Amino acid sequence: MLARPSVSARRLLDDLNGLAAIGGRPDGGVDRVAGSAEDRRARRWLAERMQARGLVSRTDDVGNVFGHTPNVADRRLLVGSHTDTVPAGGRLDGAYGVIAALEVLTTLHEHGHPAADALEIVSFWDEEGAQPESSGGMVGSTALCADPHLAEITGFVELHIEQGPRMELAGQELCVVDGIVGVDRHLIRAVGETNHAGTTPFVLRRDAGRAMVRAAAVAHDLMRSVSDTLVGNIGSFTLDPGAPNVIPGAAQLVLELRSPREDVLTRCAELVLEHTRAIAAEEGCTVEHRMLSHKPVVAFNESMRTLLEKVCRSTGRPAGSLYSYAGHDAGVISAHVPTAMVFVPSTRGVSHSPYEHTPDRLLTQGAQVLLEAVIAHHDSY
Ligand SMILES: [Zn+2]
Repeated sequence: MLARPSVSARRLLDDLNGLAAIGGRPDGGVDRVAGSAEDRRARRWLAERMQARGLVSRTDDVGNVFGHTPNVADRRLLVGSHTDTVPAGGRLDGAYGVIAALEVLTTLHEHGHPAADALEIVSFWDEEGAQPESSGGMVGSTALCADPHLAEITGFVELHIEQGPRMELAGQELCVVDGIVGVDRHLIRAVGETNHAGTTPFVLRRDAGRAMVRAAAVAHDLMRSVSDTLVGNIGSFTLDPGAPNVIPGAAQLVLELRSPREDVLTRCAELVLEHTRAIAAEEGCTVEHRMLSHKPVVAFNESMRTLLEKVCRSTGRPAGSLYSYAGHDAGVISAHVPTAMVFVPSTRGVSHSPYEHTPDRLLTQGAQVLLEAVIAHHDSY
């Protein structure tokens, strides 16, 4: 039985600072949108860091950056995350999982641990999908799923900040992620009649704007009451033609729903549509509905989750499990190889913000858990 190596907290935190300086903002945040000069510079920096530690780096055609030891095995566990950010993003979202993966590989390689050669690390290309023309992110992980390289991967583990307040509120230091919620987007449109906003008496109006404002208020109440597993948003609302002196002849909104339960997603959408149709009828309007997208619920691999739970419990620190309400590369990869994730808490639940923060002690502990998970996976394989 080999002694368990420990990650270097100093090197981990120095590397996090080094990466955060690329595209770094005066307010502590980071601008490294995929494809920007800063994003490309960060990927070159990562490759150089690997080479400086005696590792081999490789960038594929898509822009994913991989790393492994010179004696890498034919089949290996993949560990990593992404180095691109949203505009005015934080220094930890994605970056933490990549730097922790680098630290784990560096430590195992230094110690000559056999798990080092059965490990590959990655920074995926364009996880965030933050450009205006983006089709929704996860570009690099989606590309890997269609690449012959996937055949060499025995599993994937992603370490990430929670990006929400639940762990901090529960006093948890580590969480194994059960899966990723399903996300449905519905376009709902009311159609009435455009007319003069001064000369048309209220009783004669078929005001699609009024119908949809009322429907949106009811939709919010329904989202809050249908299930405590559901969150939703109305983040897009347009009136047509959109002039102060014209009664809107059409109005549309996009309803986004997230839940780990597909039946809850369906039930909520049905309820919102039923109420919207009734309200629209009262306003002399009709309703059109189109489902814009459906991302199914992802459940992570059970044996991979069990392995991570064992490792988290062995730290003796408060640990739990939860569903992620944000999307991750791990959700894409999990359709192809055994995949799971570990979260560390986000202070006050803040993320996609310059004020993203996790205490250094918890960042270091998370990286150590990742290292032990890599060893445990190697021992079990
Ligand atoms: Zn992320």
